[in-house]
Amino acid sequence: MKDSLAENIFCMAGPCAIENYSMMERITKFLLSYGITVIRAGAFKPRTACSSFQGLGLQGLEILKQIKVKYDIRIVSEIVDAKYLDSMLQCVDILQVGARNMYNYELLKELGKVQVPVLLKRGLCATVREFIAAAEYILAGGNENILLCERGVRSFDNCTRNLLDISCVAIIKKETRYPVIVDISHSLGRKDIAPQVAKAAIAAGADGIMIEVHEHPKTALSDKEQQMDFEEFDNFYRQVYLEKKN
Ligand code: PEP
Ligand code: MN
Repeated sequence: MKDSLAENIFCMAGPCAIENYSMMERITKFLLSYGITVIRAGAFKPRTACSSFQGLGLQGLEILKQIKVKYDIRIVSEIVDAKYLDSMLQCVDILQVGARNMYNYELLKELGKVQVPVLLKRGLCATVREFIAAAEYILAGGNENILLCERGVRSFDNCTRNLLDISCVAIIKKETRYPVIVDISHSLGRKDIAPQVAKAAIAAGADGIMIEVHEHPKTALSDKEQQMDFEEFDNFYRQVYLEKKN
């Protein structure tokens, strides 16, 4: 399945949230068949409504640990509080800081003290300068393993969930040395235009793409609209990674 683009522009994929062991296992096996070895999945889900599914928490981390050992994959998962750092370090290869925590400078300082890569997401309304400045909190602590993730910003337009800022990708690539990941799923909140938008992100300089994949999105416990089912992911992957340009 792999070609040179697949090797160069890496793809992090997986469900929005860990819901149970067997769904994680089926999704992991599916993604591995595409050569995808970095799996995303949230154990802690900061949601707008406190009545929404909040994630399985520590139990979710336990599932991640088992899947990681069994399938020898790398895991990216969100850390919401420094008090979970030790537990997360046992099963997570890349610590994700969610958009809602980009301004949580005390958390960023704690992540500066470890050497594990940190995927820092852009805040909901953060300027590019604030985004880059937030990364410096991690860097200042001595952790240089930082990936910046553009995931769209709030806008007046509700055609998409957020407004993907392509120029942010180009600016960060021009001005810094951080790898840039573009989260297509949370930017768009929909999946029908994901291939075109992912290609645009890559053209702007993205080093990697993040995409949500679920076996049955309609019954997912979070982000039903944007998670791709297996067939949709296959179509996405072919268009973005395998289609040859003439
Ligand atoms: C996520 O990636 O699971 C997530 C909640 O994204 P964001 O923090 O960008 O909203
Ligand atoms: Mn999600």
